[in-house]
Amino acid sequence: MKIAVVGVGVAGAYLLNRLSKEHEVVGFERMKECEHDSICAWATTIEGMKDLISKTGLNFEDYILHKGVKMDIITNTPFSLRLKGLCTYDKIGLIKDLIKDCKIIYGSMIGREIKDEFDLVIDSTGFNRTLLPRLDNELWIPTIQYKVKYDKMPFEDFMLKPFPNMNGYFWYFPLNDNYAHIGAGDKNKMHKRIVDEFVQEYGGDIVKKVGRPVRLTPPTLCEPFIDDNVVGVGESIGTVFALLGEGIIPSTTCADLLINNINNLKYYRKKVLEEFKIYYDVFRFVRDKINNEYTLIKYLPSLIKIYLYMKKRESRFGMEIKLSNMLKISRL
Ligand SMILES: Cc1cc2nc3c(=O)[nH]c(=O)nc-3n(C[C@H](O)[C@H](O)[C@H](O)COP(=O)(O)OP(=O)(O)OC[C@H]3O[C@@H](n4cnc5c(N)ncnc54)[C@H](O)[C@@H]3O)c2cc1C
Repeated sequence: MKIAVVGVGVAGAYLLNRLSKEHEVVGFERMKECEHDSICAWATTIEGMKDLISKTGLNFEDYILHKGVKMDIITNTPFSLRLKGLCTYDKIGLIKDLIKDCKIIYGSMIGREIKDEFDLVIDSTGFNRTLLPRLDNELWIPTIQYKVKYDKMPFEDFMLKPFPNMNGYFWYFPLNDNYAHIGAGDKNKMHKRIVDEFVQEYGGDIVKKVGRPVRLTPPTLCEPFIDDNVVGVGESIGTVFALLGEGIIPSTTCADLLINNINNLKYYRKKVLEEFKIYYDVFRFVRDKINNEYTLIKYLPSLIKIYLYMKKRESRFGMEIKLSNMLKISRL
């Protein structure tokens, strides 16, 4: 097939690498090649990524920048989570290696006009969802992130500060060589102020400032994700685990599902809806917390369902999962 992959982020790069082996594939990226970057805190888990990346012939562990031991959660009663493989990695470095032998056209904001030139067009444009129909009543969180260079790191390991009502959180994720990503996403739009206050308190040289919204609407509510010869993958169809704002593993998993079912898109749709079914429960929980419609009695069954899902997959989530910690956060 002649395939266009529009958007070269984590999902697009993975698709380009693997589909190029059997198809005639062209990638399109709106950023210029010299500015190509990935707006993200670059945190993921070894267990969640290593098998997916090994299918490309690369070794995920070669890209790790910092392996976490614990994550401090700052609330009125602070606590720590024991980490099980949560790390930061060189996300753009891996993307660039994945697409090394692929044909990419940079610096072009692509729209639906390319539809007729290809057998299949993949919308991997992330939050933009440029090639698929617009969605109504979306839930998304605005974010801002700074890359900061420190003389001495203010914290040695991961740190996270959740905001009341699950409106978002502040993060401090160490990279390598005394760099860290610090950022925040906040439905109440206080994110920039909070990140600036952190910089005022702890100093450091800001070397990069980025930001974009993150889609929390799950795949169940992102249909259609097949429209004529256009198919969506990754965050363009809502593969973000809303409780954590985590999209790297879900978007790569979604790309893997598309590769396995590239000749049967109806089956791909079915598999996506199955794989990300729990994301709807997680989304409802977060949405209703944000809207102040959450009560523990009403949500206890779904909270337990989410807890059991995560507990069974502790290594995939890279941290110990305790119901008591989930209840602490849900009470904020
Ligand atoms: C500040 C921030 C921090 C985050 N931190 C984490 C984290 O630590 N861990 C985690 O798991 N998730 C994190 N996420 C979420 C995660 O980054 C995304 O969910 C994930 O990268 C989605 O992958 P994707 O490939 O679907 O889309 P993206 O990675 O967003 O890639 C989309 C690509 O498409 C390009 N593009 C868009 N429109 C067009 C167009 N019309 N034509 C051509 N190109 C186009 C974009 O430039 C981009 O390169 C974070 C998100 C943000 C905003």
